[in-house]
Amino acid sequence: MASMTTVASGLVPSSLPTTGRLLVDSHENLVPPHPILASPKIRHRGAVALPNPLQYSNVIPSSSHVKLSKLETLPVEIVDQILSYLIHPCCRLPGLTETQSRYDVSEKQKRSIKDEEDLTQGADSHRWAADIFSLHVLPHPFNALSRTSRRCNEFVEGYCSHLVRQCNIFNLPFAQLDRYGAIHPDMSHIVYRRLWLQHAPRRCIYCFAALDTYPFPLVKRIITACEGCFYRQTLVRSSH
Ligand SMILES: [Zn+2]
Repeated sequence: MASMTTVASGLVPSSLPTTGRLLVDSHENLVPPHPILASPKIRHRGAVALPNPLQYSNVIPSSSHVKLSKLETLPVEIVDQILSYLIHPCCRLPGLTETQSRYDVSEKQKRSIKDEEDLTQGADSHRWAADIFSLHVLPHPFNALSRTSRRCNEFVEGYCSHLVRQCNIFNLPFAQLDRYGAIHPDMSHIVYRRLWLQHAPRRCIYCFAALDTYPFPLVKRIITACEGCFYRQTLVRSSH
C-alpha cells in the first residue's frame, strides 16, 4: 500500500500541495483525513465514503498532458475559500453597487442613489442574472463550475462533502465512517453538491436576505428577488 501511495504522489504536479487537506471548511477546526481516505487500494474496492482530495492525481490520469486552468492548479485550501463565496451567488441591483444593494441600506438611500443616475447612459444590464427571461437556464455556480472539468467537479464535491459533514442535517453516519473506515451502504456515490444545495438557505441575490430555509417549497431554480425580496416572496406563506 505504501508503494502505491508513493506512485500516486509521484503523479501530483509539484505546484499542487495536496497533502494536509482539511476535512471541514475553513470556519471550523481542521481535521486530518481518515487514513483510509488516502488509500487508493481501498477506494477501488468501493469502500471510501467521501470524494478524497488526496486522490485527485489518481482520478485524473491525464493531468500530466492536459493543460490545467489557473483555478485548477490552485491549492485546495484557496479553492475552498473561493467556493465559500459561491454558496450564495450575489448580484447587484441595476444602477447600484453590491454594497448599496444590501438589505441594511434603506429603500430611501437606494432611491436617492438611483435618482442621481445618468439616464443618458445605456441600461445597466451587465449584471449576473440580469435577464429575467433566462433565469430558468441559469445554474447555481456550484453546478456550473462542476460541469467545466473533472478537477473542478472534484473540488466542488470535496468542498460540499465537508459542508454536509459539518452540518450533517441528513444524519449521515460520518462518525461510524471515521471509526470503522468502511460502512454499508457505501457513501462514496453520494453527490454531496446536490445534498448541500438542497439544504443551503436560499438568499436574495441582491440584498442577501434569507428567503427560504430547508425544506424548500417546490420551486427549484435560482432565486433572484428584491423589490422587498419580491414582496417577501409574493405575498404570504398561507397563500401557497
Ligand atoms: Zn432582497
